[in-house]
Amino acid sequence: MNGAPLEPQATIGILGGGQLGRMLALAAARLGLKCHVFAPSPDSPAFDVVHRVTCADYHDTEALDRFAADVDVVTYEFENVPAETAAFLAARLPVLPDPKILATTQDRLTEKTFVSGLGIGTAAFAPVAEPAELAAAIERIGRPAVLKTRRYGYDGKGQVTIRDGTDPQAAWREVGGQPCILEAYVPFEREVSVVAARGMDGSVECFDVTENEHRNHILKVSRVPAALSKAAAREARRIAETIAQKFGYVGVLAVELFVLRGDGPGELGGGELLVNEIAPRVHNSGHWTLDGASASQFEQHIRAVAGWPLAKPVRYGRVEMTNLIGDEVADYRRWLSVPGACIHLYGKAAVRPGRKMGHVTRVFAAD
Ligand code: AMP
Repeated sequence: MNGAPLEPQATIGILGGGQLGRMLALAAARLGLKCHVFAPSPDSPAFDVVHRVTCADYHDTEALDRFAADVDVVTYEFENVPAETAAFLAARLPVLPDPKILATTQDRLTEKTFVSGLGIGTAAFAPVAEPAELAAAIERIGRPAVLKTRRYGYDGKGQVTIRDGTDPQAAWREVGGQPCILEAYVPFEREVSVVAARGMDGSVECFDVTENEHRNHILKVSRVPAALSKAAAREARRIAETIAQKFGYVGVLAVELFVLRGDGPGELGGGELLVNEIAPRVHNSGHWTLDGASASQFEQHIRAVAGWPLAKPVRYGRVEMTNLIGDEVADYRRWLSVPGACIHLYGKAAVRPGRKMGHVTRVFAAD
């Protein structure tokens, strides 16, 4: 169910109240649309900037009913919205992107099976439903390999690398003894992502390929454009567009890719691409678009779920985005005096190690 294009003044419902919801709501407000955020935590950063909030559990059907009655369309800002919550709402009004896509991407096994079914490269993988299957999977995939929980992994949580000396059963216990997949370890040269939007009319707009540097498994710096050959950049965008089209997606998604070392014989001059992960939402590696392009990923998402035409974003130059993680947020004072720095603080009261507290973008004139 897609629904008719929204008129300004309409209300978009957002499930999830983190910084992504906050930045979506700010983009919606600029376009004259209102947002109603539904999130379980009273400290949700998005609550500070929206028209209406519901602070309730995702399984509270009375609260969900009231929320559904107040909004014209529902979207989400994080991918672990319970499937039943999305289904409950989808029976009442348009929920975009379609909840069946959430179901595919919430599980690393169904996600990788979907991607490789499109003829797009991924690391070799094998399902591991129980500990007894692990030895055969290691035999097949080889070492080093990465054991990942099928569900609820993020920022490197729920994964462990199995190297030559690693005891498989200890690795299984370390990820919490849950259904997993085992992936071949990819000796990548760099990690990149493509943030793509697909509108209700089926058109797709990709932002330029972004290069991502992680620290302790958490995104630290994104740089645009990524240092890729033109052919590899084109291929990365083609992959994102293919995924968006095959899903019949409406909204913004991000595709994270590994770029293999550049001395291979392939058509891309080395630089072969493997999909690591799909995020069915706006993504941290697209935050540079807020200050570095004529339309941001947040605006694109709002336009898409509102049934409006997508923007054709123009990038303003070479852009660098730096996350402020944990107590690095105290640096905001220093950043305030850096010429050209655009500072975004998410309004989170509690500083915790690894918690994304804000980010800084700098636009440099030339590529
Ligand atoms: P993920 O949660 O799957 O996005 O993984 C988090 C990070 O772990 C990635 O950004 C990579 O840096 C690293 N990683 C994940 N899977 C692999 C793999 N198969 N081979 C090498 N590094 C990986």
